[in-house]
Amino acid sequence: MISSELLEILACPSCKGDLVYDAEKALLTCHGRHCSQCGMPLDDAGNCTCEACAAVPARAVGLEYRIEEDIPIMLIDEARKFDVP
Ligand SMILES: [Zn+2]
Ligand SMILES: [Zn+2]
Repeated sequence: MISSELLEILACPSCKGDLVYDAEKALLTCHGRHCSQCGMPLDDAGNCTCEACAAVPARAVGLEYRIEEDIPIMLIDEARKFDVP
């Protein structure tokens, strides 16, 4: 379990958005729109601003951070990506 105090200060390391906590699955999910390639937040037009991704159209994905032994793994590289509309 993660304490509500900790939950309150946790935010998505990519977009600083709010996270949804699923205690059963031990997951913290950000439903924001992130680049499918680098994981950084997309701009309002749905484009990634980093140079590496500029050549390839970015897909919007949400990020799912797992919790291991009550420690949330807040790393963009470690997050599972899932498609968002
Ligand atoms: Zn996010
Ligand atoms: Zn990108």
